[in-house]
Amino acid sequence: MEVSDRHMYESCPLCDGTDIKKFNEADCSNHPLFQAGLNPKMIWVICSGCKHVFTNGYFTDEANKIIFSRTHPHQSVGHEMEKNRILASMLVDRVVPYAKDGVWMDVGFGNGALLFTAMEYGFDPIGVDLRQDCVDAMKKIGIKAHCQDVATLELSSKCRVVSLMDVLEHVPFPKEFLRAIAEKLEDNGVLLVSCPNSGSLLWDYLTGTGTNPYWGEIEHFHNFSRQRLYSLLEEVGFTPQSFGVSQRYRAGMEIVATKS
Ligand SMILES: [Zn+2]
Repeated sequence: MEVSDRHMYESCPLCDGTDIKKFNEADCSNHPLFQAGLNPKMIWVICSGCKHVFTNGYFTDEANKIIFSRTHPHQSVGHEMEKNRILASMLVDRVVPYAKDGVWMDVGFGNGALLFTAMEYGFDPIGVDLRQDCVDAMKKIGIKAHCQDVATLELSSKCRVVSLMDVLEHVPFPKEFLRAIAEKLEDNGVLLVSCPNSGSLLWDYLTGTGTNPYWGEIEHFHNFSRQRLYSLLEEVGFTPQSFGVSQRYRAGMEIVATKS
């Protein structure tokens, strides 16, 4: 059954510009989360105002239900815990120069490795994820976890650190989302954010050789370059502090920013 799977963007979700042109298209029918009812073609567009590249629409609730009915094995709590602990420690190490303890909220915690490791370093972990089975698994081992949109989440205290590991490119409206995150952070709180870097030469190389996995990444609505992400962060009240390359995801970048 074909469903109406996307709400179309009427303007650029970052700058509200309305001069939007088609940029690329890809087939996502081989993606592990693809299922009947979803459109196999993904259309990418570019905003002439701010050069942001995004999909022509974001998923309807109906399409989200289809996609969230499956969980990637690597998104299951405890997946390859020992290997992922080492990768997660490199992320915590990026944050430690700016925060050493306090509440660490990981949005989209997936396998949980980052929260487990942050806890080892002395942080107080809270997890947020849209997959109920992940939230249940986290609660079972005694870690606070919520299956809720972060914008409507009520916390008893503000966070010292919020991490968004490969989350922002999945969010329909990243600017509003980051503003909601900023409200959950203490003054001078730390934001750790990662996503693929569409401004890297590696990205262009992968695209040029027809091997860039992200054009057909069914769950992504945005391709951020470092430059566009920095200006977005600054616009919503963050100061980028450090930049690094991801050891976890292909062509990924990792940015630490503090709440200004
Ligand atoms: Zn724009």
